[in-house]
Amino acid sequence: MSFASLGLNAQLVQAINECGYTEPTPIQTQAIPLVLKGGDLLAGAQTGTGKTAGFGLPMLQRLSETKATPLRNGRAPVRALVLTPTRELAAQVEENIRAYAKHSGLRTLAMFGGVSINPQMKALGGKIDVVVATPGRLLDHVSQRSIDLSRIEMLVLDEADRMLDMGFIRDIQRIIAKMPPKRQNLLFSATFSNEIKKLAESLLTNPEHIEVAKRNATADTIAQRFYGVDKNRKRALLSYLIGHHNWQQVLVFTRTKHGANRLAMQLDKDGLPAMAIHGDKSQGARTRALSQFKSGKLRVLVATDIAARGIDISELPHVVNFELPHVAEDYVHRIGRTGRAGVKGEAMSLVCFAEKPLLKAIERVTKQSIELEILPGFEPLPDSEQPPIEKPAAKRGRGNSGSRGQNSGRGHAGRNSNPRSANNKAPRSNKSPRRSDS
Ligand code: AMP
Repeated sequence: MSFASLGLNAQLVQAINECGYTEPTPIQTQAIPLVLKGGDLLAGAQTGTGKTAGFGLPMLQRLSETKATPLRNGRAPVRALVLTPTRELAAQVEENIRAYAKHSGLRTLAMFGGVSINPQMKALGGKIDVVVATPGRLLDHVSQRSIDLSRIEMLVLDEADRMLDMGFIRDIQRIIAKMPPKRQNLLFSATFSNEIKKLAESLLTNPEHIEVAKRNATADTIAQRFYGVDKNRKRALLSYLIGHHNWQQVLVFTRTKHGANRLAMQLDKDGLPAMAIHGDKSQGARTRALSQFKSGKLRVLVATDIAARGIDISELPHVVNFELPHVAEDYVHRIGRTGRAGVKGEAMSLVCFAEKPLLKAIERVTKQSIELEILPGFEPLPDSEQPPIEKPAAKRGRGNSGSRGQNSGRGHAGRNSNPRSANNKAPRSNKSPRRSDS
């Protein structure tokens, strides 16, 4: 199956080739033809399945096939809106759609809180076709009249279940009320609670339904091991594991870009050739690191979750979680980099005291009971001597840009691409009464 055979035009196919995609994922195979037909869609799919291209590519094609109706003031309107629950997801989705739109002449903008609103306002003064936004910041723009939603032709609710969990329903309703009733609506959700069903009923007209498999099952070709170790001994343990087992190709996950840089530098000093890839690295640097790693010249690649998304290395033997992910489902995604296509792989996780709640969440999601192994020489301090586990930062209300997450405030709109690292620490099931991420 090729992208062209799904009905996508030459400009989009060229952009997809440049992204390095060779064939469509299952969600793309199903969603692209349906969205191209123009009807509404209800899709069960999680991040990591390729859903962004599943809606983004046909969206761009539909926008490029028709002319926009100008706004009353004669200006070019925003024509498509993608709503996401978190800033990081907005940044990531916009980055992807921007790449897909490269040859289509369509302009995109990411819009989320925690960064100055001014560059977003300035960008809206020019031609923007697709906005990817978190609900809170979008409403800020609506109330300041910097955006006019009256010409929206397509609406995508991405990770709709999470948006409801985060208390965004009222905001979503307020946003929908600003749009013309005639438009194409796409709703993506990993789960289908009664609330989601209610939202879908109120939003979608005769929708097509599609569903792709959940990722929460770990392949049994992957041997998983978990080592209990103190945080400040993790690097030594990692160097030991790599050296002791003589691993030649190891993908290591950290939670933050800064952590990835630091770890790669330290491993290099330990005599283990290592490089980091993450959203702040230029595409050139990312491509170089990846090709050296793939060809076996680079022994260790340290990556953040998002940078690792597109990585598909056949027969990758070892994955190490230097830090556990904040979202348990990401554990499954990370270790799925190994043990592919029936080939055996090993996934090791280094778990410090403060990460025990994250480990519990992984146990729940993967439905396994996990025993921590302790290696001689790396014994952690007894629990009674461990520093107390820091509670996640208090939830914020909209408009409070003073308390940024660890990664969300550093970039600017459209650049920050490390999803879920900042304000998104609770597992998916954690219902918080109020949004925290716009
Ligand atoms: P998403 O589920 O949209 O967040 O996509 C997950 C990751 O898969 C992103 O890094 C995409 O760039 C990548 N991706 C999406 N579609 C494809 C494809 N057809 N082939 C390879 N990688 C893809």
